[in-house]
Amino acid sequence: MKTVELDRITIHKPSVTDLEIAYVNDAIRNGWGDHCYDYIKRFEKSFAAYQGSAYSLATASCTGAIHLALAAMGVGAGDEVIVPDINWIASVAPVTYLGAKPVFVDVLEDSWCLDPARIEAAITPRTKAIIAVHLYGNLAEMEPIMRIARKHGLRVLEDAAEGLGSLYQGQKAGTFGDIGVFSFHGAKTMSTGEGGMLVTSDAALMERVRILGDHGRDPKVNRVFWMAELGYKYKMSNLQAAMGCAQIERVDELVDKKREIFGWYREFLASVPGLRLNPEPAYTRNSYWMPTAVFDPARAVRNLDLMAYLKEQNIDSRPMFYPLSSLPMFEEVRENAVAYGLYHRALNLPSHHEHTRDQIERVCQTIVHYLDYVKG
Ligand SMILES: *Cc1c(COP(=O)(O)O)cnc(C)c1O
Repeated sequence: MKTVELDRITIHKPSVTDLEIAYVNDAIRNGWGDHCYDYIKRFEKSFAAYQGSAYSLATASCTGAIHLALAAMGVGAGDEVIVPDINWIASVAPVTYLGAKPVFVDVLEDSWCLDPARIEAAITPRTKAIIAVHLYGNLAEMEPIMRIARKHGLRVLEDAAEGLGSLYQGQKAGTFGDIGVFSFHGAKTMSTGEGGMLVTSDAALMERVRILGDHGRDPKVNRVFWMAELGYKYKMSNLQAAMGCAQIERVDELVDKKREIFGWYREFLASVPGLRLNPEPAYTRNSYWMPTAVFDPARAVRNLDLMAYLKEQNIDSRPMFYPLSSLPMFEEVRENAVAYGLYHRALNLPSHHEHTRDQIERVCQTIVHYLDYVKG
């Protein structure tokens, strides 16, 4: 195969139609002065309606939404927050911004999400919250996680940045925890370039989020430029929100396309021995943000080797996240044997909305060729 003759298959990019372009054009022409919050308000409303949450706040990023959520929950210096070890750094970095300590708990072998059976052993008198993350669209086990949290009086932040459109027992990911957060980074199922959203149905938490997210300004205090406490600023712009308004109108289409692409992977890879893909237990619907292949230890596939081979064939992929506790700023937690045994044999595969069935077939054939002929 000569690389130059093959189209490049990129891993992700947003789906942009005339609708997004029309709304953003309108926002840049007219969305100023009295109209400078119109798209933001509309986006927050339509997103909350989609989720079935009472309240929502659009943010500049999901990282910012996580920071605000944890601050509103009262996480502070010396507190501990339980997080799954295999994870994107953005779920955990804000814990440290507040002077709290992330406590890394192992993940499940099949869903790669937080293992509920290991949470209680990690709870100490300093534990304040649990962050549950829906990795790659796979569902974290929200029912046992919420049960444990309630029993111990802990808050739950549900990081659904990768779980938009996923369902657990028929209910939307992001609506189980005290607060749910989403990302609209360019790689995510729905995008505003950069951006995030925080949702909750808890009025008191939302009030704290609004005050902390507006530099500590309390709208009930009628004094211009007066703050009683220090806060943060993570606002989304009206221009980004205009794109978000178009994307949320198309959200079912965007999620359905992800599911269609995953269906092609399942079709072409299901019979490959020693390879499994994202699970979808009967009580869930997986929105398959990132189709991910995990190779059995017996196949001895290193994800970075396969990634390099795919790259030679003009196919982009990315490795699974490292266990965060293996990064230099944290203490290693080797006892998280599932996480440490998993990440180097797992690879994320291309899945943007314009991929065709033929392109996905080419990705799969290239993987099979690698397994059967190249690796030997
Ligand atoms: C993308 C992502 C985030 C952060 O989103 P940003 O909008 O880039 O800040 C947080 N958590 C998870 C699980 C993510 O995948």
